[in-house]
Amino acid sequence: MNVDDIRRAYLQFMLERGHVRIRPASLVPDDTTTLFTSSGMQSLLSFLLGRPHPDGTRLTDVQPCLRAQDIDDVGDNRHTTFFEMLGNWSLGAYFKEQQIRQFFNFLTDIIGLDPARLYVTCFQGDKEQGIARDDEAASIWQKVFEEAGVEARIAVIGSQQDGDRRGILPGERIFFYDADQNWWSRGGSLPGTPSGDPCGPDSEVFFDFGPQHHDGRFGLAHPASDGGRFLEIGNQVFMQYRREADGSFVPLERRDVDFGAGLERIAAAVRDDPDIYRIDVLAPLIRTVEAIASTSYDSDPTTMRIIVDHVRGAVFLAADGVVPSNKQQGYVMRRLLRRAIAAARRLDVTDHFFSRLTDEVIRNYADTYPQLAARRESITHLLDMEEKAFRHTLDSGYRELQRHTGTTLSGQDIFHLSDTFGFPRDVTLEEARRLGSAIDAEWDSDFANALEAQRRQSRQHSPLGAGSTPDTK
Ligand code: ATP
Ligand code: MG
Ligand code: MG
Ligand code: MG
Repeated sequence: MNVDDIRRAYLQFMLERGHVRIRPASLVPDDTTTLFTSSGMQSLLSFLLGRPHPDGTRLTDVQPCLRAQDIDDVGDNRHTTFFEMLGNWSLGAYFKEQQIRQFFNFLTDIIGLDPARLYVTCFQGDKEQGIARDDEAASIWQKVFEEAGVEARIAVIGSQQDGDRRGILPGERIFFYDADQNWWSRGGSLPGTPSGDPCGPDSEVFFDFGPQHHDGRFGLAHPASDGGRFLEIGNQVFMQYRREADGSFVPLERRDVDFGAGLERIAAAVRDDPDIYRIDVLAPLIRTVEAIASTSYDSDPTTMRIIVDHVRGAVFLAADGVVPSNKQQGYVMRRLLRRAIAAARRLDVTDHFFSRLTDEVIRNYADTYPQLAARRESITHLLDMEEKAFRHTLDSGYRELQRHTGTTLSGQDIFHLSDTFGFPRDVTLEEARRLGSAIDAEWDSDFANALEAQRRQSRQHSPLGAGSTPDTK
């Protein structure tokens, strides 16, 4: 099954189980407190907080997501800034039993994954906060595995570090971890759960690519390790508590499910290859980069992944109306594009190449996302303009950077590279490190001061009282 098949099969499977397909949100959310839609849940939060949903209590969609926070992980074999998330929600309609069976059946019966390659994690509870271990989820998982003829012993792991030391023992399949791994709240941690909010344990599902993929960097292999053997493919949140003003957690009357799974990662599991860039929607982009750079993927997979990911992300941002700029979403888009150009330069690509990749992205996704094809010209034009603008100053910027080789780059230098040559900060930092320059420890505050000084100056000189300033978030 390829990406299109999996996407279609998932929606069909959910519709057959009484879910209503809702329209995914734009990558730029209505809610201005966050820059991007980074999960399916994000646009549904108010409904999970109690507002009735016009389409009922069982919902499903495939949500394009952008996680700028994952940008530093891009280059590995599993994280991309843009990805598609399969999602389903129960607003009080069903809870752990149905959700766990549903996802298990989807993965094993519909997608055809071997149940013996699946591993799951549950919440171990927190005595201090008075929250019980999620034995309910663990025993449902155990039952489901045993019905499929797969041994499923339960192990208590605790923290990720404990897991790195302990590893897994034969027959173990269900693992209890602490709140860092298996608790969901808006606050991002168990003690940080905002009062009045729903929250609860989650249960993550991992695919096992086999011990030969464990790289041992962090110790022994276990589902939540970063060692490369296990890949998180799905995450189910069981909202069953509300935090009270006094800090305690009380059981909710209406219990909700939020489920999200990485489409690209499931496609990688289907291929039994942990490199998501080899799946059918990404492999042609890698081949295009190979052709542009006249070199093979194997010679520098990290750099090629960055180029492919960043251009794909920027194309989807453009389709949702984002324009490269010095602020907010536009700045992230600019960072993606300029970082892609800097990466391509490391492969000795100095010609324009965005349009070739843009064409390929649009070709791959046009059936599912017709807005890409509909806006082909404007997307291509936008990326082209950005490429021209940066290429114009790229070589002189690099010469400037090279001047600092072996010295320490200050915040003022980094500001100058941004202001004069259009180098986003992270591109400057990365390239400077590559050239063997040190970065001043105070660069961040010096950069902010330089920016503020320039703003003051431009306010003085501008009749409107506001100038355009570089490199702000
Ligand atoms: P990870 O631990 O691998 O970073 P996560 O726990 O941050 O993933 P969730 O917030 O649980 O991810 O998102 C739900 C699902 O979306 C994950 O189980 C995973 O399959 C997928 N996913 C998350 N981040 C990415 C990413 N950067 N690229 C591709 N897929 C992702
Ligand atoms: Mg993550
Ligand atoms: Mg995770
Ligand atoms: Mg997760």
